[in-house]
Amino acid sequence: MSQTLQDGGLTQSQVQAARELAGWNELPESQSAGPIRVLLRQFSSFLVLILIVAAAVALALGELIDAATIGLVVILNAVLGFVQEWKAETALTALRKLLSPQAMVLRDGQEQLVAARDIVPGDILVLAPGAKIAADAVLVRVADLRVDESILTGESVPVAKSQDEDKRQVYAGTSVTSGRAEAQVTATASRTEFGKIAHLTGSVGAKTTNLQSKLGQLARQLGLAALLVAAGVAGLGIVLGRDLTEMVMTGLSLSVAMVPEGLPAVVTITLALGATAMVRQNALARRLQAVETLGAASVICTDKTGTLTENKMTATRIWTFDQSYEVTGTGYDPAGHIEADGKRVRAADDPILLAVLNTGLHCSHARLVPAGKTWTMVGAPTEGALVTLAYKGWCPLPTERGVLAEIPFSSDRKRMSVLYQSPDGTQILTKGAPEQILEICTQILSHDGPLDLTPARRQSISDAYATMAADGLRVIALASRRAPDHVIEEEELVFLGLVGLIDPPRAEVRQAIASAQSAGIRIVMITGDSPITAGAIAKQLSLQVTRHLTGAELEELDDQALRTLLNEGVLFARTRPEQKMRIVAALQAENQIVAMTGDGVNDAPALKQADIGVSMGVRGTDVARDASDLVLLDDNFATIVHAIGEGRRQFANVQKFVRYLLSSNAGEVIALVVNIAVGGPLVFLATQILWMNLVTDGVTAVALGLEKAEPDQMNHPPRRKETAILGVGGIVTIILLGTYTGLSSLWIFFQLLDQGVELARTTAFTAMVVFEKVSVFAFRSLRLSNFRVGWFSNPFLLIALVVTIGAQMMAVYWPPLQVLLRTVPIGVAEWQWIGLFALPILIVPEILKMIWPNVQRT
Ligand code: ATP
Repeated sequence: MSQTLQDGGLTQSQVQAARELAGWNELPESQSAGPIRVLLRQFSSFLVLILIVAAAVALALGELIDAATIGLVVILNAVLGFVQEWKAETALTALRKLLSPQAMVLRDGQEQLVAARDIVPGDILVLAPGAKIAADAVLVRVADLRVDESILTGESVPVAKSQDEDKRQVYAGTSVTSGRAEAQVTATASRTEFGKIAHLTGSVGAKTTNLQSKLGQLARQLGLAALLVAAGVAGLGIVLGRDLTEMVMTGLSLSVAMVPEGLPAVVTITLALGATAMVRQNALARRLQAVETLGAASVICTDKTGTLTENKMTATRIWTFDQSYEVTGTGYDPAGHIEADGKRVRAADDPILLAVLNTGLHCSHARLVPAGKTWTMVGAPTEGALVTLAYKGWCPLPTERGVLAEIPFSSDRKRMSVLYQSPDGTQILTKGAPEQILEICTQILSHDGPLDLTPARRQSISDAYATMAADGLRVIALASRRAPDHVIEEEELVFLGLVGLIDPPRAEVRQAIASAQSAGIRIVMITGDSPITAGAIAKQLSLQVTRHLTGAELEELDDQALRTLLNEGVLFARTRPEQKMRIVAALQAENQIVAMTGDGVNDAPALKQADIGVSMGVRGTDVARDASDLVLLDDNFATIVHAIGEGRRQFANVQKFVRYLLSSNAGEVIALVVNIAVGGPLVFLATQILWMNLVTDGVTAVALGLEKAEPDQMNHPPRRKETAILGVGGIVTIILLGTYTGLSSLWIFFQLLDQGVELARTTAFTAMVVFEKVSVFAFRSLRLSNFRVGWFSNPFLLIALVVTIGAQMMAVYWPPLQVLLRTVPIGVAEWQWIGLFALPILIVPEILKMIWPNVQRT
């Protein structure tokens, strides 16, 4: 589609018209797991295979009811698994939607951020480093643009773009690595080059997490062991002359009892619900893996601007060779003024001030937009502050764009320059970090005109810079010179002055730092800002810092020295993004689990290298977001600390329900095995065991996964990387509890055997269900008594208990279930036995936790 280029981009009505023709800029949804696929997945597990074999064996033996019941359980299990997984799947899809891409466009003469799907042919895209290009487009203005086209070509070296015929096309899906440009969209959606190949690649399925695969493995191993043990026990019984049918049914029951059927589904739903809970706290996990790893994070490497601080910059001081100035007002409201020696000054009265303000104004892309009584700023906060400063000093505003060319800002260079057409000639205007500007200046502007930059004059600039930085101000230096030849060469410039910007620490960060430090998590600040400014901010936030290291000093260190230094409270300043990667690797070599923040395009490798890459939802670039595991929707450091808390809670809860489910299984297995050894009739039927494991335990375990964080969870050091879900303490607990519940139900069984095997079995079965329900209280915290956690603090658990006990009542008293589960009604005396044996399960763990609070954590 051809459109004539308009300087201000399309108007709203042109956008409408173009959309009618071209539609939305989106590719057809890639196939995510549909409901049918999720349902079919339920029948593909190893467990289901065991159950199907069990049903077939029961059928062959003529046990029709058993065969039907096992078949029913397979279906019930599939339905429960489906509901849980489908819920998890839809929760994740909703989370993914939150990440839908955006793009900056020029429309109606204004730069605006729109959803990438809104883009139409003819739109002008505004491209900056880190942006993912939303459509195919042709460059109309360009400054030093480089684009990573590896997604299309596989070539990882960024490609330089210009207005030359063969270099002016940019493509959807590629991303800007440096420079700036404006480009007119030529094709959208599936008509782009990327769209043409996208349908070939298809979608990548959600990766299973470490935890899920570890647990899946555990379930498979238990399944295999179950088959072996069951075959062994049944074989032995037959050799010893026991009844064949009975032994086969015992073998089946055993194999069913040993496998924690509900486990995989419970883990998936717990992690997915956890991820949804985290979004409410503004942390969006791009991979479920992140949540789990977060709980183990031992170091957070964080940048400063915007994460620890507000990133709302206000210029408060100006320093020039002859004069210092104070600036009033806050934010981007131009209502303040500039004072020198207590008197208001304006640009018109002071040529040096005019030069400073003019350079800040024209060497910036930010704009102020009046919005009712307030003002909003579009652009980078540092530049927004300089533009606001120009308004406050009554600097003449341009009527049209006078910028002819530009060398853009990058975090590597830490400065930028433009070629500016002023009424009295062409000028180079430059701004950046003072060190970077001083390097290219040979003179300084004074009221007597430009003076040579002698060492003494350089020193006075450095002193002024240090004074501002020590107060936590971010300092920007400005310089300029005439450029009659119309070329930007950053040399022999005239130093104009320094501007100090205040960027206050975020209110909640101080508390978050304290909480992270008491949770044994080390915080390392890595910033592009100056060491003195960074040190001052660290102090304001009570971040313990004993040493400052600049990027240049870091280059001098070998890996060993760096690792030693990292054990002290070190802060990295004036770093280049590439250096972050080395810091992460050094920490990982010390066995630390590192969370690392980043927002720029050059941060992507470090984000990938870190155990948890954290990107910024507001100020981050698309490239950084794509490389990260966690997106902070509010860019706030405190959110990382909350997310770590959430990660810890989830890992602890997985530990709890794994132990809970396995101890239930252990009880059943022990009852069955001991019973065979003493030669009693079958204590639980296969169908009854399935009922316990799937119907009653599964529901309870999900509720356990929703347990709130323990009150002191952030007072412990992070868990070690290799911490097992089941440690020695866990295994001992499972065996002890399993032995008690197994033997108790068996004892009840034998007590009642003279009154008929049906009654004895129903009571033993019900006893086991009740024991399992009561034992859940022992697992609500692995350390704390229920009096600390609060007996009623998890409403989901209470609901689960009511529902499952109700289900068990139906199993015992409702005729259809009586038929399926072969139960008979039990009376008050039987319930009394059950109650009596259940009581110690409630009391003993409480006492043990008082005596040995940490025993279960091993
Ligand atoms: P952090 O890494 O904590 O986010 P930062 O924002 O200071 O800190 P960079 O964006 O790399 O890191 O900026 C480094 C330095 O470059 C700043 O301290 C400032 O002196 C200078 N600077 C920042 N933005 C601009 C800009 N738009 N133009 C010119 N110089 C800038």
